[in-house]
Amino acid sequence: MNKKQTKQHIKAHLEEGIDECRWCFAVDSKRVKAKEIARYHFPDATVLKYSCPRCGGEFSQYINGWCGDYISERINKLHPELGGHISDKLSGEVNHRVLFPWNLGDYLDC
Ligand SMILES: [Zn+2]
Repeated sequence: MNKKQTKQHIKAHLEEGIDECRWCFAVDSKRVKAKEIARYHFPDATVLKYSCPRCGGEFSQYINGWCGDYISERINKLHPELGGHISDKLSGEVNHRVLFPWNLGDYLDC
């Protein structure tokens, strides 16, 4: 494989998605579809666990994800004075801060 082909091979592996075996690719550049063996749902993420039929290696993928209802529940718990009336603007601001916490100032000391 020349340099350009190698780049395309790596790009294809990365674009294929999350279920190609990272170990086979790292060891000898083989692209092998792994099988999902577990899926864990958390309030703010899903973690997928895979097993490779070729090398037996296991690996996991972490996917950020939460729903608006979950954010609304958090807002309602912390600010009951809103009486459940959460504007789209507030919900959007909170979601933005969840996604990009480094944009926040100092953390609360609690
Ligand atoms: Zn493998």
